[in-house]
Amino acid sequence: MTDIAPAIARTVPDLRALVASWRAEGKRVGLVPTMGALHAGHISLVEIARRHADRIIVSIFVNPTQFAPTEDFSKYPRTFEADLAKLTGIGTDAVYAPTVEVMYPPDAATTVSLKGPATAGLEDIARPFHFAGVATIVAKLFTQSAPDVAVFGEKDFQQLAVIRRMAADLDLPVEVIGAPTVREADGLAMSSRNVYLSAENRAKAPELHRIMQAASSGIVAGEAPESTLARARKAIAAAGFTPDYLELRDAADLGEPRIGRPRRLLAAATLGTTRLLDNIAVD
Ligand code: AMP
Repeated sequence: MTDIAPAIARTVPDLRALVASWRAEGKRVGLVPTMGALHAGHISLVEIARRHADRIIVSIFVNPTQFAPTEDFSKYPRTFEADLAKLTGIGTDAVYAPTVEVMYPPDAATTVSLKGPATAGLEDIARPFHFAGVATIVAKLFTQSAPDVAVFGEKDFQQLAVIRRMAADLDLPVEVIGAPTVREADGLAMSSRNVYLSAENRAKAPELHRIMQAASSGIVAGEAPESTLARARKAIAAAGFTPDYLELRDAADLGEPRIGRPRRLLAAATLGTTRLLDNIAVD
């Protein structure tokens, strides 16, 4: 690996020319989609992508269509130079950073329509248009870069299920790989939005993960899930969060848990003005 900074592509033709040159050499291509404000979680996705591909593209695009008008699109952290520095020397071959105009020409009129995991009754309740925005931009990133593999974090577990389903349903020739959640030392899942937390709330934030772990252990030990979840929801509220959901689901399709299949505990809760997401395996 060299210290050479990644190539930067800002348009679809530039990106395609790079990918074509790699393909001519017989290289496998990996894509890591991000919205920038990179942290160790994102870097882990690049490292995982490198195990599956010879050339790695990291896309950085704050996608307006996945934010509701009330959400933080305009104040979402944008740290391009720092991101580029973090991607240098770790085997990133290209950064794809298109403008909104490149991704959404004024006459754009097509979106991806979703059911299944996208309507599981988790994130989609609080954010009804979010996954259509995510799926549309990811479909475009896939067709623009034509990767062999793409890596997504389990941190956004419902998103990962939505992307897997979309790739299968639309026969997109890309292998979707899920990557484990990278956490701070105190258990808080890393997120670009953690910078919004006040010092006081940052200290409280890992409690969400601790409560989830306790609930998961209880369920694995044979407690009735509903009463354990009810107790954990109360504990989340008592710890100062505004709980959104805490649900036990089938890990593959996010439907109701079924005997003999992997289960996942998923939560969202707001602390101050920051909405935190987390999920863990229950096994
Ligand atoms: P974002 O920039 O927040 O859109 O995230 C880009 C990708 O990084 C998504 O696939 C996320 O699931 C993943 N990601 C975000 N946070 C983490 C984390 N703490 N650990 C692993 N992957 C993450």
